[in-house]
Amino acid sequence: MKKHGHDSVPHGVRLLHDPLRNKGTAFTEVERDALGLRGLLPPHIHTQDEQMARFLAHLRNLADPLEQFVALCSLHDRNEALFFRVVCDNVDEIMPLIYTPTVGLACQRFGHIFQRPRGMFISINDRGRIAEILRNWPLKAGIIVVTDGERILGLGDQGANGMGIPVGKLSLYTACAGVDPAICLPVTLDMGTNNETLLADPYYVGLRRHRVTGPAYDELIDEFITAAREVFPDVIIQFEDFANHNAFRLLERYRNQICTFNDDIQGTASVALAGVFSALRVKGTQLADEKFLFLGAGEAATGIADLIVAAMVAQGIDVNVARQSCWLVDSKGLVVKSREGLAAQKLPYAHEHAQVGDFLSALNALKPTAIIGVAAVGGTFTPEVLHTMADLNERPIVFALSNPTSKAECTAQEAYQGTDGRALFASGSPFLPLDFKGKRMVPRQGNNSYIFPGVGLGAIACGATRITDEMFLAAAQTLAAQVTPADLDQGSLFPPLANTRDVSARIAVAVAEVAYERGLAARSRPEDMMALVQSHVYDPHYPSYA
Ligand code: NAD
Repeated sequence: MKKHGHDSVPHGVRLLHDPLRNKGTAFTEVERDALGLRGLLPPHIHTQDEQMARFLAHLRNLADPLEQFVALCSLHDRNEALFFRVVCDNVDEIMPLIYTPTVGLACQRFGHIFQRPRGMFISINDRGRIAEILRNWPLKAGIIVVTDGERILGLGDQGANGMGIPVGKLSLYTACAGVDPAICLPVTLDMGTNNETLLADPYYVGLRRHRVTGPAYDELIDEFITAAREVFPDVIIQFEDFANHNAFRLLERYRNQICTFNDDIQGTASVALAGVFSALRVKGTQLADEKFLFLGAGEAATGIADLIVAAMVAQGIDVNVARQSCWLVDSKGLVVKSREGLAAQKLPYAHEHAQVGDFLSALNALKPTAIIGVAAVGGTFTPEVLHTMADLNERPIVFALSNPTSKAECTAQEAYQGTDGRALFASGSPFLPLDFKGKRMVPRQGNNSYIFPGVGLGAIACGATRITDEMFLAAAQTLAAQVTPADLDQGSLFPPLANTRDVSARIAVAVAEVAYERGLAARSRPEDMMALVQSHVYDPHYPSYA
């Protein structure tokens, strides 16, 4: 386990202002004398547990999630170990505040609640000197989460305000898998914004210009990737919340060149597939028995469809047969072969079929066993859609994955109500447990944070040179294996979020195993893979400086 601070600990105020080493009122008498802290802190010494209790009491007194988000950010800014203790020990409560749904609101209000920068902002005006700028980062980055802010959750273009997402995602790397916060670097590429509300907002933090497109955009991305690898060799680069017209292209361009992945496409796919595996256990069916109808045909939809197909191919099914089990509905209706100008990622799922204009008609025409909502349009799984699924299936699979909550296709309550409690339900944003006809239902979130932190930890531990779809398939299988019969019995298709540390460590092992098997690991193979993974895990309990 890794802790911070043993080497070259600064003294006095500098130590109190070093968030990676600060312990606040928990510095001991001996440390206060040894490190020049005497008089700089109130006399009573608190334990980290007491500090955590005090912070939580304060947090719970704040009425508004945005205020809670700000309180958590400022704790993060002054005392990282305490911040991560708070997050790790209270994942269920805190994750919705540092990630979806609150982070969506935080991005929209970013300029208005801005207190201190975190991570790095690189703009289109920085062309030609990105390596020089990255050298301003004081630490050695091992993992970068980068966004251009164009498609933040289901909220569209948030420009430079999108920084909330890389910051939040990297917090989850540490909270859920124990990735060392010192190696995490959030980056926002400010390419401009087409969000006129932001451009007119005096507090907006980004450039006052419309988005750059075409070669200038690609050149900036390319310079950033090259510079990041020059300044931080071996860094993992995770693309996050890029609009789909760039996300797929960039993934294709870089996936075989560097250690990179796109969580919106591949991480989403993995967590959704794990949920599907759980649903199959309840139904007693195989993947090949299912027919999936997606509402939405973007990064999430085609990413999930691609991984479902990869899983079927791994089971020996022909790829063309496997693709026939996935159908997409986008804003123009059912994706069918006769439609012209389809984006490349939709083509494998453009099957022979008459044109169908809307989701309900597609549902009636195709009679799927599973519907997966990823169009970021709220309320689209109407009672009629749900009744139809319940008429077609004894146990309909209903995943309402769009975020934030306002964009969810239906709530958990609606899913159970519309299917007489028979839906195998998962959501993108959290829903509370509920009683349905006398049975306690505990719907769980198909949260990407079950997957990407473990994938990142595994890649770091073995020095992965690439991150592949096979690793995401292994991650999905590992996650699904953690779901107990008791979970399934209460409608939970995922394990409790509180188990994420354990789940992530297992996923890290599975990912590293694939890396070694495929010759994609830079480090020599250890005897004990779990021990290797654990040696990279950060421990948020305070170290002793005495
Ligand atoms: P995207 O922009 O790539 O895709 C959105 C798709 O929805 C596009 O194909 C678009 O044509 C389609 N669409 C838009 N309006 C529609 C309509 N009225 N009817 C049918 N289709 C319509 O976005 P994405 O990355 O695929 O994300 C979509 C949603 O899924 C977001 O809300 C995102 O937050 C959510 N998501 C959830 C998870 C999760 O739960 N783990 C993970 C990733 C994304």
